Amino acid sequence: MKRRDFLIGAGAAGTAALLGGCTREQIEGKKDFNINRQRKVKLKIATSWPAHFPIMGTGVERFAEMVNGMSGGSLEIKIYPKNILVPALAVFDATSSGQIDGFHSGPYYWKGKNPAFALFSGAPLRMTANELSCWMNYGDGYELWRELYAKYNLYPFIGGNTGVQMGGWFRKPIESLEDLKGLKMRIPGLGGEVFAKLGVNPILLPAGEIYTALERGTIDATEWVGPALDIKMGFYKVAKYYYTGWHEPGSILELTFNKARFDRLSDEHKEIIRYASEAMTSQMYHEFMDKNAKALKELKSMDIEIRDFPPQIIEAAKKALLEVANEQSKKSEDFKRVFDSMESYYSLIRPWSDISETKFCSIR
Ligand code: CA
Repeated sequence: MKRRDFLIGAGAAGTAALLGGCTREQIEGKKDFNINRQRKVKLKIATSWPAHFPIMGTGVERFAEMVNGMSGGSLEIKIYPKNILVPALAVFDATSSGQIDGFHSGPYYWKGKNPAFALFSGAPLRMTANELSCWMNYGDGYELWRELYAKYNLYPFIGGNTGVQMGGWFRKPIESLEDLKGLKMRIPGLGGEVFAKLGVNPILLPAGEIYTALERGTIDATEWVGPALDIKMGFYKVAKYYYTGWHEPGSILELTFNKARFDRLSDEHKEIIRYASEAMTSQMYHEFMDKNAKALKELKSMDIEIRDFPPQIIEAAKKALLEVANEQSKKSEDFKRVFDSMESYYSLIRPWSDISETKFCSIR
């Protein structure tokens, strides 16, 4: 081979490797990538968040831009904030029926349809964001989720994770189980059911009413997400005690499509959505970490106290979680299957987490 030919060959192979193994003909446009660029595919996705809602809303907007870029403009995803196409909590039904193509929200909102759906957000005092992703991808998580959602003509992806959420804002310190009795707290989901076993009165309130209820003492405590979003709600002005988290160790957000619509997409578009949703998930998780750290620094300069729940409360909550899970499992075969799968994966992953991340974080 002449030196010049060799160099051209090596150059082309190098470029092909960079472009994910595309042939020279494909790079030069002589062959199609199978995406039909003459026909633009458009998908409408509605969210449960206000327009440009920090991290969650902006994250899914970035996902749409990513898909547009990766598909060379052949797949256009339009994101609609809550109440534009459908109300915030109507997105599940609207996607199921095909009125819209997909939604970005959280699986625990749909526990009324099937109690097992709450578990796809994670469980109190159990797996972290990373551990849940392992269960989804390498355990039975995705398989169970997709099987149960298929009954509603839906196809879900993980669409972000909040990481560990804080335990919430309390007007008075919580020093014993006694202090929880009769306490009125805004806390939704399985965490609320667990706390109810310990005597808390869990209250559901729309986001816009929580601050006033806490200020007036209509509620004694509230959880929300973590420093980054909590600081914007202003809770620190009316409740001084900020407790560390137990009830939402890594809440999964979902990006869910109408299954029939998703199935009709080209293989390329399906792959683009799959990988863009993974990119969105890790970006959102890391953005939460970054913004939480910055907001925590700010909160520490204010008149608040960060506290841990006493160990007796955490131990009682662990027992209560199993009671709640037992009761739900008796009522719902689906809940039992999903919870059992999570428990079994948790007992597999935890010994490794214990001697790797957890161990390291305790000594550094
Ligand atoms: Ca929360």
